[in-house]
Order: sequence, then structure tokens, then C-alpha cells
Amino acid sequence: LCQHSTVGPIETTLCDYETIESVNGELYNTLSELVRTPFFKYFQVDLYRECPYWQENGFCMNRECGITTVDESEIPERWRAAALSKIELPPLEERVPLPGCYYRDSDFCFLDDMTEGEYVDLTLVPERYTGYSGPSAHRVWKSIYEENCFGLSELNLLTGRSPAQITLPDTLTDVLREPIEGEDADGECLEKRVYYKIISGLHASISTHICMEYLNQTTGEMGPNLECFVTRVASHPERLQYIYFNTVLLLRAVSRIGPYLRDYDYCSLATSTPHDHILAKDQEEVKTHATLSKVIDIAEHVGRFDERVLFRGENANILKEEFKAHFRNVSRIMDCVGCDKCRLWGKVQTTGLATALKILFEMDETALDPHKNQNLLQRSEVVALINTLHRFSESLQFVESFRDMWKETGESD
Ligand code: FAD
Repeated sequence: LCQHSTVGPIETTLCDYETIESVNGELYNTLSELVRTPFFKYFQVDLYRECPYWQENGFCMNRECGITTVDESEIPERWRAAALSKIELPPLEERVPLPGCYYRDSDFCFLDDMTEGEYVDLTLVPERYTGYSGPSAHRVWKSIYEENCFGLSELNLLTGRSPAQITLPDTLTDVLREPIEGEDADGECLEKRVYYKIISGLHASISTHICMEYLNQTTGEMGPNLECFVTRVASHPERLQYIYFNTVLLLRAVSRIGPYLRDYDYCSLATSTPHDHILAKDQEEVKTHATLSKVIDIAEHVGRFDERVLFRGENANILKEEFKAHFRNVSRIMDCVGCDKCRLWGKVQTTGLATALKILFEMDETALDPHKNQNLLQRSEVVALINTLHRFSESLQFVESFRDMWKETGESD
């Protein structure tokens, strides 16, 4: 039987939610180890593209907004621009004929050109309060919701709601079907709702990180801010629910791509390295494989999400194209974010979510075969997928900490 447990406004439900909560500690620790390995910590990104939608001049002048990129000489040779630009596809006769046209040219996001951009060590750039806010930040969120959200957003952006105790659905597949707040029950199709939930969940996860490491204006120190979390996330229980939703979506994608990831070449050093380096390389690769394997095991255990209910029926293909076009626009809107750190994590996470969507909705079993289709995903997609899952898993850990803080305030009695 599914029950609801409520800690003040920080509500949760049992069943699927409880399953995720029961494994999240282990998932989070394993992912934290994984994202520190060389393969997963370097992300190549072009942070300085022009905002294609408007003249962005609200750049954040706060010291916290800036990032330092890594010199290319620190990056394993095979990932450098010159080496990357040389990556070749298998000969035509060895390629698997794939349904549709998703091979490389059909994505849910625009991947940066891998011959440009710089490497960033993600472990050195925590996602936290940067001071980026005001009209520039609002404009970006607004345009993500409004221009890409099938007109649903205004409801959520304009209604300041009280911490109502909304009954949560029992399973995460039910979340797929739930109408969103303020929506006319027959108003929107499933796919459009799902789109909104993904974006709102991403927004809630970013907010959770900001509130966990918030700047205390009096002491000048960073630390958790319970009020921030309650206002931005917990007083809107559905936002909390969408963090779970995105976590399960990502886990399901990792589980589906499991065999491919288990077979992936995580070798990070050049082939011409001396003997002791080859030894180090082997050990490092073994460790990366073992850690990733643990993550895949967990994903296979809990990544329950029935993607088959989406993109079916009469207008399935039109809807899917529409969905993709919207999601692609979001990745371009990231170039309009006026704070380097926020833009970086925005890009990592939209790429990670887009990769999950691609895995769930664009690939059939033949395509997923690691032997037949070795170049299925680009390195940046694999790195983004795992780092995005780590972000969401971290948010769930933070939610636990906020629950404890709430209990300590005594307001839960
Ligand atoms: P905002 O978070 O800006 O929200 C605007 C409005 O959207 C709210 O008033 C509300 O009505 C609605 N809303 C809020 N959350 C949700 C939700 N989950 N679902 C649906 N509707 C919602 N700032 C940092 O300090 N560090 C970062 O790393 C960072 N990363 C960012 C990444 C991106 C891509 C963007 C666009 C912004 C980022 N920001 C970051 C800015 C941050 O998200 C906020 O915009 C800023 O802190 C101001 O917050 P706010 O309280 O005014 O509301």
C-alpha cells in the first residue's frame, strides 16, 4: 500500500519514491566517485556562443559566476580537439541500418562542435549560489517555459501558490499522466505534460543546489538556506515530485544503454604512453568500469519508467518532432544564460537530459548493441548523462538534509 509521509511542506510518497530513496545513498556515493574519474570529469564545452534569441547584456559581474577552463595539455591526448576531429565512423558496410535518421544528425539538443570549445574540470565548479538573478535569469526561465512549453508556463510563472498539500500519484508512471498544475484536464497531451515536467524538475534541481549552498549575506559564508528551499521547491510539492521523475527518467536511460556503457572504451591515455602509464591506465579503466557497473546495476534495479506510453498513436511522429524541436531550442537558450557557471551546468544538464530522451525514444534494440554500433553516443553525451544523473541524485540527498533541518525547527510538530 502506498502512503504519504509529510514533513511539513517537504512532502514525499512511498512506493516508487521510497524505492528511489532507499537506493539513493548508494547511488549518490557511487556516482560521486565516478564523476571524479578523468573520463567523467572533463567536459568539453563552448561557453561563449552568441545568444541566438536576444542581445544578452545582463552578464553576471559576481566573482562567483566565473570559471577557469583547463589547459588542453592537461587533457588526455585522444580527447583533444585535433584527435576528436579525426574520429571516424565505421565503414559504411559495417554500419547498422537504423530506423529513421537518428544516427548523429537527429538529436534532442544541439551538441557543441567538438573541435571548438574548451575543457572544463566539472569537479572544480560546484553548482551553487552564484548571485545570478533578476531580469536576465527570469527572461531565460520564462523563455524556456513560454516559448518552448506549449503555452503552459504562464500558469506556473504567474500563480504564487501557498504550500498546498497536493496528493501525489502513487507511481512514477502515473506522474507521466498527471495533468500539471492549473491545466485543464483534457487540455494537453501526455508528451507536452512530460516536457513541462522535465523542465520544471530541472529548474527545481538547480534551485535545490542554490539553496544548499547559499550565500549568507551577514557572515559572507556559503551554507544551506532552508527558507530558500521551502519557498522555491518544497512549497510546490509537484516540483519535488519532478526531481524524482527526472531521476527515474535518467536511470531508465542508463539502464537501457547499460550494455553499451559496460562495453565503452574509457581509456583516457594516449596509446603511445610508456609502460608504467599503461599500467596506470589499465587500473584507472578497471576502476571506472567497476564504478560505472555499480551505477548500471542500481539503474537496472530501479529505473522503472514506461517510455512506451509516449509517442504512440496517430500523430506520434509529428509530436516527437515537435518535442525534439522544443528541446533543441532549450539547449540553444542556454547560450543566453548570463553567468558562466550557470551556463556550464545548464549545458551539461540539458545535454544529459537530451541524451536520456534520445536513448529512450530514438533507439531500438539493434541500435543499442554495443558491438554493432560503437559510435552510438559521443563522449560528451556519455559524460553529460552521468553528470546529470549525479546532479539529480545529489538534489535528492539535499532534500533529505532539508527534511532533517525542517524537523529540527520544530515546526513539523
Ligand atoms: P527563479 O528560479 O528565477 O524562477 C522564476 C519563476 O519561475 C518563479 O518566480 C516561479 O514562478 C517559477 N518557477 C520557479 N521554479 C519553478 C519550477 N521548478 N517549476 C516551475 N516553475 C518554477 N543561479 C545560481 O545562483 N546558481 C546557479 O548555478 C544557477 N544556474 C542557473 C541555470 C540556468 C539555466 C538558469 C536559467 C538560471 C540559473 N541560475 C543560477 C539562476 C536561478 O535559477 C534563479 O533564476 C535565480 O536564483 C533567481 O531566483 P528566483 O527566486 O527569482 O526565481
